[in-house]
This record gives sequence, C-alpha cells and structure tokens, in this order.
Amino acid sequence: MTIHTPASTGIYDRFESEARSYCRSFPVEFSAARNATLTASDGREFIDFLAGCSSLNYGHNDPDMKQALIDHITADGLAHGLDMHTSAKRAFMEVFEERILRPRGMDHKMMFTGPTGTNAVEAAIKLARKVTGRHQIVAFTNGFHGMTLGALACTGNAGKRGGASVPLSGVTHMPYAGAFGSDVDTIAQMEMLFDNPSSGIDAPAAFILEPVQGEGGLNAASAEWMRGIAELAKRLGALLIVDDIQAGIGRTGTFFSFEKMGIVPDLVPLAKSLSGMGLPMAALLIRPEHDIWSPAEHNGTFRGNNHAFVTARVAIEKFWCDSRFEEEIATKSALLTKRLERIVAMIPGARLKGRGMMQGVDVGSGELAADICAECFRRGLIIETSGAHDEVVKVLAPLTIPERQLSEGLDILETAARQACPAHSMAAE
Ligand SMILES: *Cc1c(COP(=O)(O)O)cnc(C)c1O
Repeated sequence: MTIHTPASTGIYDRFESEARSYCRSFPVEFSAARNATLTASDGREFIDFLAGCSSLNYGHNDPDMKQALIDHITADGLAHGLDMHTSAKRAFMEVFEERILRPRGMDHKMMFTGPTGTNAVEAAIKLARKVTGRHQIVAFTNGFHGMTLGALACTGNAGKRGGASVPLSGVTHMPYAGAFGSDVDTIAQMEMLFDNPSSGIDAPAAFILEPVQGEGGLNAASAEWMRGIAELAKRLGALLIVDDIQAGIGRTGTFFSFEKMGIVPDLVPLAKSLSGMGLPMAALLIRPEHDIWSPAEHNGTFRGNNHAFVTARVAIEKFWCDSRFEEEIATKSALLTKRLERIVAMIPGARLKGRGMMQGVDVGSGELAADICAECFRRGLIIETSGAHDEVVKVLAPLTIPERQLSEGLDILETAARQACPAHSMAAE
C-alpha cells in the first residue's frame, strides 16, 4: 500500500506549529472512529494500538457514553460549570465513591484540577510540599509526569526537559526498579542515601512514581519494590504519589494499577481514560488527612467538564460494577503476552516489557522500533514507541478491542517485525 498525503495536509505543514508530533508518524487525516478502528478521510481503515496514549481504554465513541452525552446535551445539561455543584458531577462522584473507592477500601477525597494530567500532577506536588513543609520531590529515572514546569521537573526525558529553558529544580531523580538490572536493589541504594546525613540528599516532601512507566519504556515495578518505596516514604515522613494517569483505569488489568500491591498511596493523579470517552478530565485523589488546601488555593476554570462527568459515570456503571471487564482484560493480556513472546523470539536480544494491556517489545534500538512502527502503519496499524531511546514498540490497544481484531493487529505487528528485522541484522554486520 502506498501512503499518499491528502491535499489538505498542506494546512498542517504550513500553519500548525512545529511542536506537532504524533501526526508526523501517521501522515493521514482521520475523520471517524469506532472502538479500535480509525477511519481516514480517504476511507482507509486502521487498527488503533495507540488509543490516545491510553486515553481511550474503552475505545472510540462507546455507544452508551455517546448516547448519555447526547441526552445530556439535548436536555440543556451544563457543559461548563466552574467547580459548582451540578447533577452530572454529583452522579459521577457518587458512583466513583461507591463503585471504585469503597470496594477497594480507599477513603480518599476527590479534587478536580484543570482537565489535563499534568495539572493533577502539579496539584499533587504542590500539596505534598504544603503538607510536609519540605520542597524536594523524589522522582525516578525514565519517569514521565507531564509537561508543565513542576511536572516536567519530575520527568526524566532530556528532550522534554530541554524545552523548559529554565532550571527544573526541586526534584531528585533516583533509580527506578531494575534500573541497574534485576540483581541490584535500588531501594537499598536509596536507603543508604537517605540514612546518611552527609549524602547531600534532603528529606523529601514526596516520592512520585508510575507503577508501569508508560513513556519511559514500560518498566514495571514489582509489588515488593512498590511496598519498599511506600515504607521508605512513610519512614522519612514523605508522601507517596502514585501517578496512575496512564497505567490506571483498567490498563494493567485492575482499575488502579497498584491495587493488588498492598500499598495505599497518599495522592493519586488520574486523567487520560478517566472520562471514558477521551474528553478532557483530571482529578487528584487525596487521603483525607492531607486535604489541607484553602479554598481556591489550586484553581482552574475548567475543573468541571460536565460532559466528561456524564461519560465518566457511564464508564464506571458499564465496566466496573462486576468482575466481567477485569476477566476480559486478563484474557486479552494473556493473548498479548503470548503473541509478543513470539516477536521477542524473532529478534536477537529483544525483551518483553510491561504488564496487562500495557506491554511491548524492547527491540534494542530506536531505529528498529521506528522501522517496525512505520511498516505497521503502511499495513494499517497505528502503534508507537516508548523508552529512553524509543526502543520499545508499545501496544496500547483499547481494552474493549474485540479479540479477533487484537489478533489481526498483532499479525500485522509480527509481519512488520519480521520484515524490518533482517534489514537491521544485515546493517549491523
Ligand atoms: C500522559 C501522562 C501525564 C500527563 O498528562 P497530560 O494530560 O498529557 O498532561 C502524566 N503522567 C503520566 C504517567 C502520563 O502518562
């Protein structure tokens, strides 16, 4: 198949800022989308293994969310309400408390921030500093937490950090689980630094981390390591911030990615798939004793996206009121593991990364990963890379993708990997 750029992409190249990114990997214009299928303006169909970077865990345009939103709009329900009480907001909060927090033994309060993930992260680090009276935040190698200055200071990626042009201060980066290989206990290293009063490391306000590093290469921390961090944070009087923006909302198999790890985070930023339909919405879960904000101390005009409240409520009612969805994710995750292991076996030195529906293959180099993704695109599959060197081909299919279509996408990925691979092994010789 040949890729032809529609005439109308002229306006993007001419008029849209150079900051644009994903559209460069997928030079096509989309006009419709349903569940895991994207349709281009010229009628071509693509399987979506990117899912809005995990903002579309329930696929594109879920019919029940869509209908509820149409009904809400038709009835002149509020679109925007600052942070005022609205019926749509109440209905969402009630179902979130009842169906998500209570069954998991969580008594967190809910703060609505501006509607992006980075805003929820800013709120979390601001609050941790306010609660502890300390300023240093501990973040981890390969972590990604957003692009505004506070969250960017917690982000590891040099390219992203470079855009700041001011010192990104107040954050110490420590080695994530397995950063030196599986034999090295990075918690023991941290303990040495924190317990030595001459190490030069200040007592932190918080530890911030992702249980599976979405942008940083799908490194997955073990429950044991997460408990180690939770204990260390507690001992040091620091808060534990678990950024579940990408790994949460079912992506790893459970609603929260940490819920089977025996930890209770102090603060949990949520965004991406929280609204269920790809509408902007973010929230910060806060253990009640830490909710010491003054009114409007962290503010934002778009804290009440009522359209998102409507679809977020339907998402919970539809998918999280019994165990069926979790079982469905487990089945697809097992299929994904099995198929990716075949690809790993094809590529010398390749490794399987991640867990649940957040897995991928470290193919050893960014060039090979890019070639595989480009070949996938030519064959009708949208898929992206992750990792410090973009060396991980990352599968982020909607959790609702039909098994047949998941297999079809994985067939394309396998063919693309086979095709890209010999070229690279020859180049290396
Ligand atoms: C995407 C992401 C963010 C930032 O969310 P935005 O909505 O892009 O601001 C923060 N943390 C993690 C783990 C993410 O994946």
